[in-house]
Parts: sequence; structure tokens; C-alpha cells
Amino acid sequence: MSVSEEPSPSHRKSSEQGERSLAGCVTTDIADLLAKPLTAGLYLVATPIGNLADMTLRALSVLSRADVIYCEDTRHSAKLLQHYAIAAKTRPFHEHNEEREIERAISDLESGKRIAMISDAGTPLLSDPGFKLVRAAAAAGVPVISIPGPSAALAALTSSGLPTDSFFFAGFLPPKQAARRARLVELSQIPGSLVIFEAPHRVAEALADMADVLGERAAVIARELTKLHEDIVRGSLRTLAEATFGETLKGEIVLVVGPGRAEPVSDETINARLAEALEGMSLKDAAKALADELGVPKARIYGLGIKAKGRSP
Ligand code: SAM
Repeated sequence: MSVSEEPSPSHRKSSEQGERSLAGCVTTDIADLLAKPLTAGLYLVATPIGNLADMTLRALSVLSRADVIYCEDTRHSAKLLQHYAIAAKTRPFHEHNEEREIERAISDLESGKRIAMISDAGTPLLSDPGFKLVRAAAAAGVPVISIPGPSAALAALTSSGLPTDSFFFAGFLPPKQAARRARLVELSQIPGSLVIFEAPHRVAEALADMADVLGERAAVIARELTKLHEDIVRGSLRTLAEATFGETLKGEIVLVVGPGRAEPVSDETINARLAEALEGMSLKDAAKALADELGVPKARIYGLGIKAKGRSP
């Protein structure tokens, strides 16, 4: 219930009777939700990213009455559904069966069914299947209803301490280094924080590439959010890359990277600083040191150094 809404009749009744309890309010709110009919449509339902208690009342009221719940992995979702005694029929939905299931789902929706879609964790469609189903439902003129809730991307961003006014959700980076670095070059142009999902065994190598390509930026490793071993480590891309070097982190991880400098550093500034630095160190070391100092990608400094060498007699 939003604060601007009138209290429901059941709330009024309980407050008239005296002290209201949290448990009482939750009970009456869910009862009110369940008393209203669930209309036909495609419901996109966010589910917990680790902590089963992060279910909204709307999510429970929709899932408990859906004609079918599409899950990425029905066995995985069974734990959550059993926890809340939800007995609705489940059906798998993943990239290997989505064409067939979309056809079936649209026909079900057109005949007035209530279909819920959940993923293994968090908000469906965010690095999870479902986009093509939503597109098809919208094209068929079927209602698409969002039941918002947990999202690892937003939980990581908001607890990172990095700017939230403008951010870019990049999903997973390519696993192979050349493609990952090429993607990071594209991402380096985004004027805002970056939110990136990464597999634990690739975090160290991804951070090393980020430090090289994105330069010296503030960053955060957000691990196991909402779970027992929740851990948020803040630093610079370089310090985080060094701290994780050779390590395989455990658990689920989101990386958040702060924005680059607002003022771009010119080639002239880099060339001037490079000329000084090269008096005392190799181009490789100078590129690394200046990347940290100027907050520009090491590869750019190295490239300018090679160009300058080509020009010198
Ligand atoms: N749709 C989901 C969402 O909205 O959060 C994300 C699904 S995506 C396939 C799974 C990735 O989300 C993981 O590899 C990890 O990067 C991130 N993730 C999921 N749960 C997390 C958690 N509890 N803590 C940190 N990252 C998590």
C-alpha cells in the first residue's frame, strides 16, 4: 500500500480495535490482495536473489494464483515455491525452448490465462530469459504486468557508494579476453557508473582488463548480496585487480565501476607526462603508472608512446 492510499477497511478495523501489529498488517494486506481477482495477463515477478524473505506480498499473491509459472529451472524455483506453499503449475522457459513456449503462452494468454514468469533469481529478463515473450505479448495486445522486487544489479549499485544518478547495466562481459577488452573499450565511453555481472572464476581477470582499459576508476565487488556471507569490497579497479590476482572468488558477484573523469584527458597532456615518465622507466611501466594517475586506459597511453617513438629520430 502506498503512503498516499487510503488504509484498507481491514486496517481501519484493526486500528479501531487498538494496537496494530506488523504481523496483523501483513496478514490483512495479503488477505486483501487475495480477495481481489487476478486478471488475465503476463506477470513478470521478481523473486529473491538469495534471501527467501525478500518476497513482496504482490509477488506471493500473483504466484499463488497463476495458471502457470514459467521458470528458468523448475527444480531451482521449487524451493522458493514450496517455502511459500505455492502449488501452481510450473513450466520451464529457457533459450532452448522459448520459440515453442512463446507460441503456447500467447495462445494461453489470449484465452484469458494468468501467466507468471520468474527467473532463478531477481528480476526476470535481466540477463535472464523472457524478453522475446514480453515482446510477443505486447505485439498481441496482451497485458504485461510488472511485479517488481529484488535485482542483484540494483542492490549492488545502490550499496556500492558509487554515483547512482546515471548508470549503465552491461550484463555479463564476454568470457574471452579479446572480446571482453573490445567490449570494455565501448563501455569506457559511457558517462556513468557501470554495473556488470561476472562469474566468480573470471572476476580477477575481468578486473585486470577493466583496470587496463577503463583506467583508474573507483569500483566495488558486491558478493553474495542478501545472503549469510554478503561482502562488499570497495577500492580502485587497480587495487581490486591486485587484491584478487590469482584468486578464485566464491559466490555470486556483481562488479560496479564508477564513472570516468568528466573532463577528458587530451593526447597532449598524456604525451607531456609520458615524456617525463620515460626518463626514469620503461614505456610499459610508464603507461601503467600514468593510467592510474590520469585515469585513462593504459592501452591508450601505450599506443601514444609507440607513436611518439616512431616519430623520434
Ligand atoms: N535477473 C537477476 C537479477 O535481477 O538480479 C540476475 C540473473 S543473472 C543470470 C545472475 C547473476 O546475477 C550472477 O552471475 C551474479 O552476477 C548476479 N547475482 C545474482 N544473485 C546475486 C547475489 N546474491 N549477490 C551478488 N550477485 C548476484
